[in-house]
Amino acid sequence: MKFGGTSVGSRERLERMAQLVMADPRPRAVVVSAMGDTTDRLLEAGRCAERGDMHGVSVQLDAIRATVAAATDDAEVTAHTEALLEELEGLLHGVRLLQEQTPRSRALLASFGERISVGIAAAHLRKAGLDAHPIDARDVVVTDDRFEEAVVDFEATQRRIDEVVRPRIEAGETPVITGFLGRTPGGLTTVLGRSGSDYSASIVGALLGVEEGVIWTDVDGILTADPRRVSEARTLAGVSYREAAEMSYFGAKVIHPKTMMPALEKGIPIRVRSTFEPEKPGTVIGPETTEVPFGVKTVTSVDGLVLLNVEGRGMAGM
Ligand code: ASP
Ligand code: MG
Repeated sequence: MKFGGTSVGSRERLERMAQLVMADPRPRAVVVSAMGDTTDRLLEAGRCAERGDMHGVSVQLDAIRATVAAATDDAEVTAHTEALLEELEGLLHGVRLLQEQTPRSRALLASFGERISVGIAAAHLRKAGLDAHPIDARDVVVTDDRFEEAVVDFEATQRRIDEVVRPRIEAGETPVITGFLGRTPGGLTTVLGRSGSDYSASIVGALLGVEEGVIWTDVDGILTADPRRVSEARTLAGVSYREAAEMSYFGAKVIHPKTMMPALEKGIPIRVRSTFEPEKPGTVIGPETTEVPFGVKTVTSVDGLVLLNVEGRGMAGM
């Protein structure tokens, strides 16, 4: 089960998450994103630090602190989170001194969101009665050193899944794993690309060999159009891996395009469901497609694109 930023964004949402996990008695692992807009704030703090704007850094850090403080009152988790925030401050101070960021330092900076949320999410699950333990995906997901869009080594990751995650599930625990994060064999922090937690969940699920992956999000599945723009948009009952990959690649924000790949290889269905409306069945992404009346399943769009047409004499070979 994967819970996105909105679904772990506040105490109320985290309590809802715990109920949804509890309601499904099957053995499971949980993958979580950073809370709310934490990742955006971390990256903005990095840009501020790089140009020496420490006031800007404080604004972002204060906002992250406030989100975290409102989400839990577990003393141990609060202390652990405070230690992480101090480490984060130190890192941003380093960026200020260097006046530069690199893909490697940005990946490390971005990793704090999930590292903070995972402890808080696990605490909520424990409070609800589950034997939940946080796992840092850097101990599991092995990647290359394309730091901000890292490529996963599935063989090495399979070994780590079998060593670190599977035994906990077999012991009846619920591992709660950070989305988005990985680590190089040399021990450096990497991330899987923006919105990469869906992909993390799919990697973990496929390598565990789960019977179903559930992406819990803020809409009740994959829709015929972006519901923020098209009020008549309807939920699709089922789409194939290929369709889902194509839709997400061409602008459907509901799921990360890479998510379908690991699931497709193992034929594992992915269900996209809404934490706001958990009684709805959502959309199943699987090997088969379902027919719709008009043949066309969805309309997607990509913003911020420009087509430039350059004309003139002597353009050949330019
Ligand atoms: N927290 C990361 C991001 O905002 C990953 C994710 O949310 O899926 O990009
Ligand atoms: Mg997200």
